[in-house]
Amino acid sequence: MAITLTVPVSGPITQLFGENPDIYKKWGFPGHNGIDYGIPNGTQVSAAAAGTISQVSFENGGYGNYIKIAHKDGSKNYFTYYAHLASAAVAAGQKVKAGQLVGYSNNTGASTGPHLHFGLKIDGENPAYKGYVDPMPYFTTGGGAETGDTSTGADTSANVSLPDLKLEVTYEVLNLRNGPGIEYSIVGQLNKGAKFTSKSLHSKSVWVEVEPGKWCALQFDGVTYLKVSK
Ligand SMILES: [Zn+2]
Repeated sequence: MAITLTVPVSGPITQLFGENPDIYKKWGFPGHNGIDYGIPNGTQVSAAAAGTISQVSFENGGYGNYIKIAHKDGSKNYFTYYAHLASAAVAAGQKVKAGQLVGYSNNTGASTGPHLHFGLKIDGENPAYKGYVDPMPYFTTGGGAETGDTSTGADTSANVSLPDLKLEVTYEVLNLRNGPGIEYSIVGQLNKGAKFTSKSLHSKSVWVEVEPGKWCALQFDGVTYLKVSK
């Protein structure tokens, strides 16, 4: 038995757990110690599971404004982290439900663009990451009967709607495909600097829908293709 998490914001994943070892060795981690979601500043951030707010704090040069929530599942203690926030909507000691608003996103601390950093820590696990683990296997799909499914198959029914997220291409030439995955056919291209508004993200993956039926990847092999634009 393990805790199940709901995604704290509706936004595309811009950095996965374990990526970019060169950047994170500065903090003593073998790679990125959480999952990043690219979202506009001011996006509402919700608790990934029911728990108690254990910290509302500021870390200069790191998490910026962040919230730490303590969760218990049987005898196991879990902590979730929500970093680079503008402000918190909760106070330490407060009990929260899963999905409850806890704060608003921003770009505070060591952050290169508007995003939410989400982390999961389990006492005594994954020592190289000081207890941080990849949150991905703990997410429910939020899609009714699919609870517990952690596959990342390219089923377009598993899409998440976005709050009209504005994105800009940061890679020379980006392929557009007729589905969310490299197994789909190339149906066009976007050049560096191209801007579009996406309304849909493939659940738990890095594909966004550029226009109906045309998809592109946010990143591949640690290279980011898109950024959130104003
Ligand atoms: Zn991060």
